[in-house]
Amino acid sequence: MITIEKVGNPKDVWVTCPGCKQLYYIDRLFYEPQYDKIPLHCPFCHLEFAKEDSPMTWGE
Ligand SMILES: [Zn+2]
Repeated sequence: MITIEKVGNPKDVWVTCPGCKQLYYIDRLFYEPQYDKIPLHCPFCHLEFAKEDSPMTWGE
């Protein structure tokens, strides 16, 4: 179950999809430099977007 308490988990980073504005979390690994060219994938609307395009992030 996804709860907002996950914000404190250092393993995850929360992002907001620029398309549907849904909040979800991704593995912190995606913020490593070698993943800079890999788009994030929204599980709700299936939009692919760059990390910089997320309007909000937590735990970065
Ligand atoms: Zn979305």
